[in-house]
Amino acid sequence: MEHKARVRFAPSPTGDLHVGNARTALFNWMFARREGGCFILRIEDTDESRSDSAYQTGLLEDLKWLGLDWDEGPDIGGAYGPYRQSERLDLYAAHLKKLMDADLAYPCYCTEEELEEERRTLILARRMPRYSGKCRNLSEKEREALAASGRKPSYRFKVPRTTIEFHDLIRGPMRFEGEAMGDFIIVRSNGMPAYNFAVVIDDHLMAISHVIRGEDHLSNTALQILLYRAFGFDEPVFAHHCLILGKDHAKLGKRHGSVSVGEFRKQGFLPEALLNYLGLLGSSFAGGREILSRDEMIGAFSLFRASKSGALFDEDKLRWLNALYIRNLTAGDLLERLQPFLREAGYQPETLDPLWLKEIIGIVKEELTTLAEIGDHIDLFFDERYSPSQEARRLLAAPGAREVVGAFGAYLNRAQGDAAEIYAAAIRHAKEKSGARGKDLFMPVRAALTGKIKGPELDKVFVILGKESAVKRLKRAEQEIIKA
Ligand code: GLU
Repeated sequence: MEHKARVRFAPSPTGDLHVGNARTALFNWMFARREGGCFILRIEDTDESRSDSAYQTGLLEDLKWLGLDWDEGPDIGGAYGPYRQSERLDLYAAHLKKLMDADLAYPCYCTEEELEEERRTLILARRMPRYSGKCRNLSEKEREALAASGRKPSYRFKVPRTTIEFHDLIRGPMRFEGEAMGDFIIVRSNGMPAYNFAVVIDDHLMAISHVIRGEDHLSNTALQILLYRAFGFDEPVFAHHCLILGKDHAKLGKRHGSVSVGEFRKQGFLPEALLNYLGLLGSSFAGGREILSRDEMIGAFSLFRASKSGALFDEDKLRWLNALYIRNLTAGDLLERLQPFLREAGYQPETLDPLWLKEIIGIVKEELTTLAEIGDHIDLFFDERYSPSQEARRLLAAPGAREVVGAFGAYLNRAQGDAAEIYAAAIRHAKEKSGARGKDLFMPVRAALTGKIKGPELDKVFVILGKESAVKRLKRAEQEIIKA
């Protein structure tokens, strides 16, 4: 029988979706789609004190925004549910019983304080801070006495003194010494399963074929393999990808700047650009290609090609990609996506003529790196927002500028007809009258017309503004020159 690949993304809802985790989701998703397999979303919410349903909602929304669709998950169900660990507690309890019955686990009555003290002593003695196994060999009587004193036990797995070897699809042969590990907790004293325990049971029961996750989980994998063996479960294939690093080569974190998908979304990054960038990071696609659609990424993805060394997060490169994706959108699509950003910038897009707006957007899109910059680029088209900047004023006050602007304005006052033609003729006229050319000619006109010293091509701006608005603005600009 042919087995379909089944992979999962298993976030803990304890914070916003970090781009590193989004990349793990992307790798799993690309793998599933390429193999014609199943991509499963599982919520690991057993840490009650840190989990929050708002984070859970946010995680699902961010994944959807990125376009990473799942085939089974908490919202849509599936044949291997439930898909929230908090709804699977009976399964963990049954599996604890199995290990207890096989004498592979034991209750541990040590308190937090006692364990902390033990750790401190070991560290001071320069020894590996691992659990001593104090409760491993308690007699039934001792256990009863400790329970009677009100102590609630956690449960620990009896780690065998063995070498754990496995083959990682990305990193090759891996080896860990069981001797170096202490008996680890599988069920906490509050009855909740520990991560390594729950994850093995879930990955097994959900028939996961490949576990693809960050290399920070490598040492967990060694513990998990011990559990697979204890239960007699087949092990999945493991693949640990490198982590995203900041410029200082430390794991990408808040101090490096924006790190969550939500932050990039708010800043006006396009999901396809962010996805493309995350796919590119540390997983060079065939042929060294950099710009790939979702389908092309799926086709080009290979775990074997994934890099072992950390992937440096380069926000400039992400911005470059984002600008490129923005430029490739149609004006209609871009306008749609700009709606929240226009509102944020104080515009009411629903009150504006969509055709006029589309024309403007067609012109300014070349200059946008992110959608959130839209306000700074379109304000020049709104007469009520016309207000020459410091630099524009300085420029207008420079010798020669008055003459250029004056000649340009004089021509406008008597011109009629097509806006593009009026503009070209007014420029010619200003050039002849003032003798200015190049920057000396265009910069004062730009400053006067837009109030800025940079912006989209002036002839296009003029056509959208129209003669009437241009005349009004030139008058204002003249006043500015007089003031300066
Ligand atoms: N809940 C774990 C995490 O967010 C999942 C790790 C795994 O993929 O096993 O890190």
